[in-house]
Amino acid sequence: MLLEQYQLEPERVADQLPGILDQEFMVAIGWDADQLLLQPPSDHPLLGWAQCIVPECLVDAATYGGLCTGCKKRLAHSDMTREAFIADPPPKTGGGTYKWLIDEWVCQVNGCPRPISSRQTDLCGSHAGGCRAVFGHVTAETIARYLQLPTTVALAPLGGCKVATCLRLTHFNGGLCRIHAVRWREDVKAEPRRDFEHWCRVEPGVALSGVANLRGLEASVVTELLAGIQLRAQQELRTRYTYLNTIANDLRCQQVSTIFELDPPPRQRAVANVRLLADRERVLAATELTDWARAEATPSEEEITASTQLARPIEN
Ligand SMILES: [Zn+2]
Ligand SMILES: [Zn+2]
Ligand SMILES: [Zn+2]
Repeated sequence: MLLEQYQLEPERVADQLPGILDQEFMVAIGWDADQLLLQPPSDHPLLGWAQCIVPECLVDAATYGGLCTGCKKRLAHSDMTREAFIADPPPKTGGGTYKWLIDEWVCQVNGCPRPISSRQTDLCGSHAGGCRAVFGHVTAETIARYLQLPTTVALAPLGGCKVATCLRLTHFNGGLCRIHAVRWREDVKAEPRRDFEHWCRVEPGVALSGVANLRGLEASVVTELLAGIQLRAQQELRTRYTYLNTIANDLRCQQVSTIFELDPPPRQRAVANVRLLADRERVLAATELTDWARAEATPSEEEITASTQLARPIEN
């Protein structure tokens, strides 16, 4: 039925599946096909999420009308009432949230393309080290003097982080951003025989409120996930971006070329999430054919045939 509805040919479903994606819907849910990130608006009726109530705070508060963990802490350390805090929140230290995903701060040395190593210095690691080498320590005063030196010049770019999911810049020579460098160090300490290249392919991205990261997945898997979201939306089912990240992480770990190859992972939470999207009957039931499918108390022969019809070409 899905094949008929969208005029898909069984042997070409993989090629044709992208064609069923409703571009208007993709825009509405914040799909960025270039970056492979889904950033649904927090007030989207089906993909929305509980953005912190503090103005201009873009962090997920987990409960609607609530404060995020960071704002709760800031409120606790202030002597303000909740109402006063929300009306006029003190500025955040560290300078915001979104920039860290893509638009990193770069070193304040003129023309230096490397990412900063800390907001305290606004210098890349190499220039912070250079400043320390010349003046013995890195303070606002020594940085100002260091920037005036004729020998303080821009360094060559180090490129992007090697982790497939990651959009951040390489921090040092290892080819990883700061967060992934820390994760790699911890992971390799726990499991010394870890393969670096494989780790880079499967490692999750930097978590960010309101962002589902579908990078590092096969294009066919991305299309299936988007089709799944679209079909769920047609049935008015909510899809949390956090669920998508969990599923995407499992799909990436298993390096599958279709969601139907996914082995249910052992974690109960993930199993429940996989069922939401990857269950064939559910995907099918979410289409127009639900009219007759709903009329059936149990899956009929017709439904089973329809499932097989959809699944076979996708599996091959
Ligand atoms: Zn907040
Ligand atoms: Zn620099
Ligand atoms: Zn990274």
